Amino acid sequence: MTNNKDFITVSCDGTNSKEELKENEQNSKHPLIYLKVPLNSKVFCPYCGREFLNGSM
Ligand SMILES: [Zn+2]
Repeated sequence: MTNNKDFITVSCDGTNSKEELKENEQNSKHPLIYLKVPLNSKVFCPYCGREFLNGSM
């Protein structure tokens, strides 16, 4: 089995689904995109800059 668990796939459309909302973070939408986050790493959404974590850092 080569089910890759070394990364997760997250989606972002610019909406703030979580309760945490930064003051300088706009609540504007953008096209829905998918990002792959490697294990123990993080990526930033190129549109809204939201941070996605995979694992505990
Ligand atoms: Zn985004």
